[in-house]
Order: sequence, then C-alpha cells, then structure tokens
Amino acid sequence: MKLVVLKFGGTSVGTIKKIEKVADIIKKFKKKKYSVIVVSSAMSGVTNTLIKKSKEICENFSEAEYDVLVSSGEQVACSLIAGRLQHLGFNSRSWLAWQIPILTSGPHKNSRIIKINKNKIINFLKDDGIPVITGFQGINTVNRVTTLGRGGSDASAILIAKFFDAEKCIIYTDVEGVYTTDPNKLKKAKKISVISYEEMLEMASLGAKIMQPVSIQDARLNRIDVYVRSSFVKKSGTLITKKSNIINNKIITGISSTQNDSKVTLIGVKDKPGVAAAIFKPLSKNLINVDMVVQNISPNGKETDLTFTIKTEDLGRTKKIIKDNRHINFRKLSFEKGVSKISIIGVGMVTTPGVTFRMFQALAHKKINIKVISTSEIKISVLIDKKNTKKALEVLHKEFKLYK
Ligand code: ADP
Ligand code: ASP
Ligand code: MG
Repeated sequence: MKLVVLKFGGTSVGTIKKIEKVADIIKKFKKKKYSVIVVSSAMSGVTNTLIKKSKEICENFSEAEYDVLVSSGEQVACSLIAGRLQHLGFNSRSWLAWQIPILTSGPHKNSRIIKINKNKIINFLKDDGIPVITGFQGINTVNRVTTLGRGGSDASAILIAKFFDAEKCIIYTDVEGVYTTDPNKLKKAKKISVISYEEMLEMASLGAKIMQPVSIQDARLNRIDVYVRSSFVKKSGTLITKKSNIINNKIITGISSTQNDSKVTLIGVKDKPGVAAAIFKPLSKNLINVDMVVQNISPNGKETDLTFTIKTEDLGRTKKIIKDNRHINFRKLSFEKGVSKISIIGVGMVTTPGVTFRMFQALAHKKINIKVISTSEIKISVLIDKKNTKKALEVLHKEFKLYK
C-alpha cells in the first residue's frame, strides 16, 4: 500500500473555496493510486479567536478546558474536508483524535503523542476510505482531550506518518516552502530546496513559524522526510531530511528573527555565588521563559550587571517578580521593549572560521548596534533594535550570499 500523509494548515483551509482546492489536491493523490490520510488544522484565525474567548470568560481558565475549547477548531475543518470529499464521490469521514484514539502524555496545552491506535484507520483505508484526522489534539490516560502546543498539527502529521509507516509526509501551507527567512518579512528571501533537521529545528525554535519546533524533533528522531509545499501553487517545495542526504556548499542556510522580545537589565547586583539562580528561580516557577542571558564581569568583584531577554507579554509579571524578590539586591532595574533577535543558522559554520566576525562587521556597516550575543554550534544570535530587523535581514542575506 503506497500511503501518503497530507497535512493542511489553517490558511489552506481558511475558506470554503480553499477547502474545495484542498479536496482537489487529495483527489490527485487518489488518482495516482495512493492511499491518503489527511490531517488538518483549524480554519485560519479560529484557534486565536477561541483563545481570546478563554481569556474573556475568566482570568484563570483551566488548562484542561482550554484544550477542549481550542481543539474544537480542527473538528470543523475536518468535517468540511470530509464533506467535500464525499461530494466528489469519495468514501471519506472525519476522525477526532479521541475516536482513534491518539494517546498523549505530558501537561495540558503542551502534550506529546506517545501512541496511535491504528486498527480503525487501517480498516477504513482498506475500504478505499480517506480518513480526515484532526491535528493538534489527542487524549490522555484519564480520557481528557489534550492539545500539542501552537502549530501542533505539524507534529500530528509527522507522527501519524511514523505510526502508519507512510511513504511521504507533505505539509501544505500558504508559502511555497521553507525560505531563507520569512518571505512575508523579506520579499527577496529565497526558497530552500533541502534543509537538515538540525537547521530546521534551529530556524523554527528561533522564530520561523513555518514548522512547529517539536514536530521537527519528532521527524528527526524517527527519520521521517518532511516535504513542505504550497496548497495554492503547483511548485516544488522544501525537503526536510537528514544531513547526509544533503550536498550543500552554503555556510549559512537560513536566518530567523523574533518579534515581541524585551530586554531586562539589573544594574549593580551584589555579586556572590547563587545570585543568578536567585533571580531566575521565581521566573521559572512562574513559567516565564528566559532566553538570552549575559552577566558582565564585575570590575570590583562586588557588583555586576545582568541582562536577559523575555517575551514582551511577560514583561509586567517579570517586573513585579524581580521587585518582590527579597533574595536579591541591585541598584537599578531597566527594561527595553521592541528588541528583536536575529539568528544566522547553518551546519556549514562548524567548518568555516570567521562567520561571527562577518556577521558583526556586516551589521556594523549598516550602523546596527548589537546588544546581546549568544552562540551554539550551528547558530549565532544577536539582539538588536526591532526597527532594524529588515535592514539586518537584508545585509546578512548579502553577506552570506543567500540571494543566489
Ligand atoms: P499553516 O497555517 O499552514 O500552519 P503557519 O502560519 O503556521 O501556516 O506557517 C506559515 C507561515 O510561516 C508563512 O506564512 C510565513 O509567514 C511564516 N514563516 C516564518 N518563517 C518562514 C520561513 N523561513 N520560510 C517560510 N515561511 C516562514
Ligand atoms: N490550530 C492550531 C494552532 O493554531 C494548530 C495548528 O495550526 O497547527 O495553533
Ligand atoms: Mg503552522
């Protein structure tokens, strides 16, 4: 049985017209004698609207109810796709995650798929059926609905491909594939034809919304090739695969940028062992994600400055937690909203000296000031003023020849 998993994102199923197009794509695979499992996200905007409602109804809406609420968007989209396929003469039906079931573990809002019961779907495929499965959701050991984190229908598709041993997993979206940077931020960004799991994981974790980071981890662990392509235009997309499948002479593969980051600085912190832990412990307890961190060397051995970045939505809570923290002493607290983290990513940098210097020099030529730096084996990130984001993306594309 030649089996393919086709996943459609929110923008691909955003209107009735688009769902008709989706059904036509599915029809083409059936014509080529493929067995098809469809996975869909909610119609675009629906999940955001539901989350907004959960915030409006009360301040501490429970996480279990959040999952019941936000997973409902996928039900609508899947039913409409199945309905259209039936209209075209196919044997199709929708499947909610609990009806299969797709079993998950972990906390509400951020669960992970651990097992998928295959029997019902296999029997339906044998009857030439097209199952349309809700992405983004599962159930846990106590039969409660769970969700897989924002963008989680990517993970659903990849793990369905794994459990059913599919020949292909194709992620259909509103752009032609993975680009060197978000094509909606930089028009001249180039489509990448093939990218390693490692690079895709960094790009996604550092702000490229095109794929959910967790889903790329799942693909890498299970060695699933993932194709990303457009549901609107018939053009080749991007293959996400293992490094050894790629011949690439580029040093840098892609550039990611973030939005809505803020920088926090504690000036004149009493420098003694355990001080950083005392600052970050209550932040982590309140689930505030701290990203880049730098601590200056204290000139007199008594005081130091500590800078870190967080999401701007957490700024109010962070301020309060630091001010209320009786375990730390500092002279001044300062904040800066409107910063952006720009990251260059590429496995090629491991073997190429001078990449850091070239990045800094290119930014300096454009008079872009670097506030914080962090690096790992295959990425270099810098924090800059958000207003310089586009300029930075442009100059780094030129420096690392990504337009070619
Ligand atoms: P879907 O609804 O199909 O899941 P998403 O909105 O989750 O789509 O992801 C697609 C969007 O990702 C694109 O519209 C694009 O703006 C954004 N994006 C961010 N970085 C990249 C990148 N490097 N390449 C392609 N798209 C990107
Ligand atoms: N509908 C969910 C979201 O908006 C899942 C997804 O799009 O993959 O996060
Ligand atoms: Mg998505």
